[in-house]
Amino acid sequence: MMMFYPGIHWDSGIERNGSIPPKEEVDMAVKKSDERKSALFVVGDEETKLSIAHAMAKGYRITLCGDGEAEVVNPDGRSYYVQNFECDCPDKRIRGGSYHGSCKHEGWIGQMRPCEMCGAVMYLGEFKTAFGECLMRFECPACGNARDDELVCEERMILRDGGPQDERLMPEGRCRQAIAYLEKRDTARYVWLVVRQSPELAPIMVRLLAEAGQGELGDKIAKVYPLDPPSAEHQMRERLKNGQAELRKLPKGLSLITGLLDHLNIEQFEDVPSEDLPDVVGWFEDVYRSAKQ
Ligand SMILES: [Zn+2]
Ligand SMILES: [Zn+2]
Repeated sequence: MMMFYPGIHWDSGIERNGSIPPKEEVDMAVKKSDERKSALFVVGDEETKLSIAHAMAKGYRITLCGDGEAEVVNPDGRSYYVQNFECDCPDKRIRGGSYHGSCKHEGWIGQMRPCEMCGAVMYLGEFKTAFGECLMRFECPACGNARDDELVCEERMILRDGGPQDERLMPEGRCRQAIAYLEKRDTARYVWLVVRQSPELAPIMVRLLAEAGQGELGDKIAKVYPLDPPSAEHQMRERLKNGQAELRKLPKGLSLITGLLDHLNIEQFEDVPSEDLPDVVGWFEDVYRSAKQ
């Protein structure tokens, strides 16, 4: 199986012979780039702003939802959304994109796409043919699926012109692909891989697994990727509950709890209205701290 990860050039292992001179190779790439009106980038080069390897080295986080759909979080925690290959960042909105009408985020998202075979994320890479030609293609590090860059560009153009969307590249489709593999080959490998690459798909994956009679696996996934992250209110109520148990263990603890409940004019902490929770948690912690001294 061929493996390709961003930042690593995949090489066919065949020695270049009779290869194209570098200048012609560059000319060809530039021509190809102009034809498609997209910027030229070097795959896997950390020094090149438009390569995913650069994005990763700089600490950007990319969550791919579908082809051309993603959230990009920059190292400072600010997030931008790319929708149908259109980014909402200032470079794109205000300057119109510094790279041939695209921003770097759009450049990165263009080099990724969901795999229609297993639902994982494919990356654009370059490989050398037996004739020494350097070609670009998307490769899936998970299942080895490969797709020509030119073919993908065609498909994307059709999509942009309002053509039919390939369901397999959208969130539900990605989960269904991985589940199909599970049913055919009896391996949950891709199911795990998809939720690891795109944790936001976990709720969809769990629902579809349940529908497919794979609820047990769904439960395991839900345990690793909580479907509903605990809310702030839930966390505060848990703190009060655990705090009470701790406070009871201390001398005077029980009377302190009663005193606080009296002060709040309630029977039990469960009765604290949501809007008062932050204050009550604060008081409770003060009381607890004083009891410990
Ligand atoms: Zn952008
Ligand atoms: Zn794949």
